[in-house]
Amino acid sequence: MNRRFNLLAVVAAVVVAGSFAEAAAQTKLTWLGHAAFSITTPKGKVLLIDPWLHNPANPDVKAGKDPLASISKVDYILLTHGHRDHVGDAVEIAKKTGAALIANPELAGNLVKLVDFPAKQAGDYIMQAGAEIQIADGEVTVAMTEAVHSSSVFNPKAGPNEPERAYGGSPAGFIIMIKNGPTIYHSGDTAYFKDMEVIGETYSIDVALINISQMGAKMSARAAQTLRAKTVIPMHFATFEGLLPNADSFAAEVKKLRIGFQEMKPGETISFVGKQMMRTR
Ligand SMILES: [Zn+2]
Repeated sequence: MNRRFNLLAVVAAVVVAGSFAEAAAQTKLTWLGHAAFSITTPKGKVLLIDPWLHNPANPDVKAGKDPLASISKVDYILLTHGHRDHVGDAVEIAKKTGAALIANPELAGNLVKLVDFPAKQAGDYIMQAGAEIQIADGEVTVAMTEAVHSSSVFNPKAGPNEPERAYGGSPAGFIIMIKNGPTIYHSGDTAYFKDMEVIGETYSIDVALINISQMGAKMSARAAQTLRAKTVIPMHFATFEGLLPNADSFAAEVKKLRIGFQEMKPGETISFVGKQMMRTR
């Protein structure tokens, strides 16, 4: 009897410990408005993509709070291209947190030269489309994909002999593969391109973060289909005038194609256990 009780206690302890380990092993994806997302890996590394945290859709900004005040730990900053609504607060965040930059060499070089991005943090993870790098002690693999757009760095030193916009290299998207977590695609500002098919064949995309204003509702849905994304999350809309005011038309197109659709609110976090998205509501 006693022995059986002990055995049960051991089994219960293992189950409890297992569920704690599972809870600890979550990946968290937070939308900070516009194209800005943070990803926290199961081991606690923090990646920030296109960190324009002062965007007007960020709840902190709406509440009149400093959106950088709550940012204390960032390990990597990923930039898809040099436009201001994507570089955003990267320099300040890099200085505050020591985060390393993941971007193409021309963008990295001009951010260091023109807007004082810390040079020491802009050398180790420089890459171009087609490349894959391992970061976070091998917990995360980042692949840079092509994007059809433009890329330039706003030059605060503009003058008679200095252009207003400096070269920003080629625009990009990212595939972020997390060990014991999902594979996430961030489209950057790309238009639709046929080689999304190759991206979809090469990587098994669990979540695609798609800029729906750049492609429009119909082509954004087609992109999600071409990428073979299991779930698509719209972004880069309703931040300012000229963008799509909401994701409704996109949602309708995506549903026609029977692709998983998840709309996030700025400030919202979605958790994943392994590749499995947890219910958010
Ligand atoms: Zn943009």
